[in-house]
Amino acid sequence: MGRICLVGAGFSGAVIARQLAEAGLPCLVIDERDHPAGNCHTERDAQTGVLVHRYGPHIFHTGDDRVWDYVNRFGEFMPFVNRVKTTVGGSVYLLPVNLHTINQFFGKTFSPAEARAFIESRASMDIEDPQSFEEQALRFVGPELYKAFFHGYTLKQWGMEPTRLPASILKRLPLRFNYDDNYFNHPHQGMPRHGYTPIVEAILDHPLIETRLKARWEDQTETFDHVFYSGPLDRWFGYDLGRLGYRTLDFEAERAEGDFQGCAVMNYGDPDVPFTRISEHKHFAPWEEHDKTIVFREYSRLCGADDIPYYPIRLLDEKKLLTQYEERAAELDGVTFVGRLGTYQYLDMDVTIGLALDAAEAFLARRAA
Ligand code: UDP
Repeated sequence: MGRICLVGAGFSGAVIARQLAEAGLPCLVIDERDHPAGNCHTERDAQTGVLVHRYGPHIFHTGDDRVWDYVNRFGEFMPFVNRVKTTVGGSVYLLPVNLHTINQFFGKTFSPAEARAFIESRASMDIEDPQSFEEQALRFVGPELYKAFFHGYTLKQWGMEPTRLPASILKRLPLRFNYDDNYFNHPHQGMPRHGYTPIVEAILDHPLIETRLKARWEDQTETFDHVFYSGPLDRWFGYDLGRLGYRTLDFEAERAEGDFQGCAVMNYGDPDVPFTRISEHKHFAPWEEHDKTIVFREYSRLCGADDIPYYPIRLLDEKKLLTQYEERAAELDGVTFVGRLGTYQYLDMDVTIGLALDAAEAFLARRAA
């Protein structure tokens, strides 16, 4: 019996390997990077001592008890609530859009019911089933808030007009008619005390799992019983039908004394500010004390062949190409495609873990049958 190969040591690969190893199957996890944990990798910045999210901010939140229990098995999560601010037109507002944002923006003192009625009076209530990002915004927040908080940011983040983007992107964000400025609605939220990488390392720490870093799938010579591939779906096929579009990110680091911005995430909604947001990493670990600080200015652009893919664009053209690759993937016997890159979906960490648990369970059930 051969080993199972997991390509990619992010949450997908690590969780599936763990589940299979616990069922007695030997696994090899490979990753071409020099660290596990994929894009949620965290590391200490040598100059400031701050725990840095090297590939951008990752906040763990979930409504799935199974996933929450799972990650808590492998490391300690500290209480953390993501409270995002946005700088727009020379003022700082609270996100997600809530009663404070609405009252501040319109110079009002609305109650929740008054704010709801007011927003509904501006919103395009005739849009019954919003398809695009813009329709979703006009239907739920109206033109003024859309223009201020979503239009410019989205242009920068996605590089195109929100009329071309699916409504699902905006549906990620709540709209609240109370003063709750928790960015997420989920009952579980937290930050790993020592970062994500030790959690993934703990998941991989099993006698039946070998983890090999700086190892490319293309260079493997071993024959495997099965492969779980969390690399880019189109890369598996040598991009022979073309490339699935992604947005990539550039991070510009700056170090300073003290406190740079007073919060973990400050968005910049104005289109003429070239970055989308600034993350100040020490505020992701408020239980630690640091005199120095490090921030990342985050710039989004189209992903080139040598860049790191972050956000699948998933427009109509990409969906057509995706379907073609998916059809070919379905014909393959010995490989399962998983994760954000392997399934070309905008997945959060908790969803990724839930799907990885499902994939492992389905695989084990098939083998037992
Ligand atoms: N968004 C926006 N303004 C903001 C924050 C978000 O227009 O201040 C839009 C933007 O299109 C973004 C989407 O909402 O891609 C989802 O935001 P989220 O914060 O979930 O993005 P992530 O943290 O995953 O980059």
